Amino acid sequence: MNPFTYQHAADTSAAIKMASSHAAAKYLGGGTNLVDLMRETVERPEVLVDVTGLPGVIGQRPNGPLMIGAAVKNTALATDMYVRSAFPMLSRAILTGASAQIRNMATVGGNILQRTRCRYFYDTAARCNKRDVQSGCDARDGFNRYHAILGASDSCVATHPSDMCVALAALDAMVHLDGPTGARAIPLLDLHRLPGDRPDIETELRANELITAIEIPPLPFAQRSTYRKVRDRASYAFALISVAAALDVDEKGTVRDVRLALGGVAHKPWRAFNAEAALKGRVANEENFRAAAETELAGAVALRDNQFKIELAKRTIVAVLGELKGREG
Ligand SMILES: Cc1cc2nc3c(=O)[nH]c(=O)nc-3n(C[C@H](O)[C@H](O)[C@H](O)COP(=O)(O)OP(=O)(O)OC[C@H]3O[C@@H](n4cnc5c(N)ncnc54)[C@H](O)[C@@H]3O)c2cc1C
Repeated sequence: MNPFTYQHAADTSAAIKMASSHAAAKYLGGGTNLVDLMRETVERPEVLVDVTGLPGVIGQRPNGPLMIGAAVKNTALATDMYVRSAFPMLSRAILTGASAQIRNMATVGGNILQRTRCRYFYDTAARCNKRDVQSGCDARDGFNRYHAILGASDSCVATHPSDMCVALAALDAMVHLDGPTGARAIPLLDLHRLPGDRPDIETELRANELITAIEIPPLPFAQRSTYRKVRDRASYAFALISVAAALDVDEKGTVRDVRLALGGVAHKPWRAFNAEAALKGRVANEENFRAAAETELAGAVALRDNQFKIELAKRTIVAVLGELKGREG
C-alpha cells in the first residue's frame, strides 16, 4: 500500500474543498472496496477524504420521492421499513450483496462507485485496459465466466458488480452530485458508462464530484417487485446474472407497466428497455415473457466461458416475471 493521508469531512463543502486541493485525492466511504484496491496498489490516492460523516438520512415526502443520503449504510437502507414495503426489489438487492459485516460498513455512495471484480483488474501482473489504458485485456482470452455479454468492447469485458445499482436502475433513480462546479442531478442510468475504448473512464462524474444523495421517484406498482440473483454460491458471491423487476398487470391479465433491469451482464447496470417495450400491452404469460427476454438478449455476445449466461439471463427474466405475476391481484 502506498502512503496516504486521511482527512475527515464535516460537511459537503468541506469534503469538496479537501478533495479539490489535492491532485490525487479520493473520497472514502466504508472503505470496503477502495482500501482493498489500495492494498493491491490498483488505487494509489495520496489523500483520503472520509465522507461517512455527511448526512446519512433516509427521508420520504408524502407521495413524493424517497431521498437517501450518500452516507447511509447499506444495512440501514435495506432494512428501512418504508423501503421494504415500497421498493422490495431494492431491499432484496442490497441483502443479496456481500456479507452482513460489509453491508454494515458500506455506504450508498461507495456501493454505486465500487469498481469491477474482474480478477485481471485486481491482478497488477495482468494486462488490463481499465487499469492501464491500451495495455491489453487478459480477460478476453482468460477466465471469463463472470464477464459481460452486453455492451462490451474489444478493450474491456468487465461487469459492474453492484446489486443495489440494478434495482436503482429499474427504479429510475436520480443521483445528486455536488462538486467544484456546483450541484446537479443525473439519472443513475447515465452515471456509469459502457467501456468503448476508454474503460478506465467508468462514470460521467466530473473531477472531485461527490455523490450527496439518491432520489427514487414514486412508483406505486414497485410494491410488487423483486430481485433475483443467480450466483455460484448461495451467499457471499457476485452475480452471474441478476434481475430486478416490478410488474403491473390489469384485471384482464395485460401488462400495464413493467420495470426490468439486469446485473452481471454489462459494464453498467443494464436497463432492459427493449424487453419492457415488448411486454407493455401484451398478455402477461410465459410465452410473452420469453419473447421479451429474447428481444433483450438478441444483441448478446458470449466469450469462451460465459455462453451459458445468455440462456440463464432469459430464464431468470421469465422466472422473475412469472413469480411477480403469481403475486398479482
Ligand atoms: C468480499 C466482498 C464481497 C462483496 N460482494 C458484493 C456483492 O455480492 N454485491 C455487491 O453489490 N457488492 C459486493 N461487495 C462490494 C461492496 O458492496 C462494496 O465494497 C461497497 O458497497 C462499497 O461501499 P463503501 O462505502 O465501502 O465504498 P468505498 O470502498 O469507501 O468506496 C468505493 C468508491 O466510491 C467512492 N466514493 C465513496 N463514497 C463516495 C461519495 N459519496 N461520492 C463520490 N465517491 C464516493 C470512493 O472514492 C471509491 O472510489 C463485496 C465486497 C467484498 C469485499
